[in-house]
Amino acid sequence: MAAADNCLFCRIVAGEMGACIYEDDLVAAFEDIQPQAPHHTLIVPREHLASSAEFAPQHEALAGRLLLTAARLAREKGLESYRLVMNCGEEAGQSVFHIHLHMLGGRTFGWPPG
Ligand code: 5GP
Ligand code: ZN
Repeated sequence: MAAADNCLFCRIVAGEMGACIYEDDLVAAFEDIQPQAPHHTLIVPREHLASSAEFAPQHEALAGRLLLTAARLAREKGLESYRLVMNCGEEAGQSVFHIHLHMLGGRTFGWPPG
């Protein structure tokens, strides 16, 4: 599972910066540096994948683990209501090109998203 050169989230997963609040064989989680809600956690694959556009059948377990980890962390934080977001591509708002699932909670969210 090669880390991509100059990838911010690969560096965080490698422990070079910031602290992960959860890690297992497939994913890691850490708090967003610029939280958009009282709770804002990012869950990322350990493996470098630029966006969900790169998901392929061999990533089925990884994709499931991302969701299960988000649900587990929300439960541990006592959140009954929360939002999961995965932006794919610049137009959708993706700014870091290493897959990440946002888990946001602790406030009321509007719909449709901006
Ligand atoms: P995106 O816009 O790609 O969906 O989300 C990227 C997220 O990464 C943003 O919410 C942004 O605040 C967060 N982020 C950017 N740089 C860092 C960093 O160095 N550390 C952490 N923990 N989060 C970051
Ligand atoms: Zn990466």
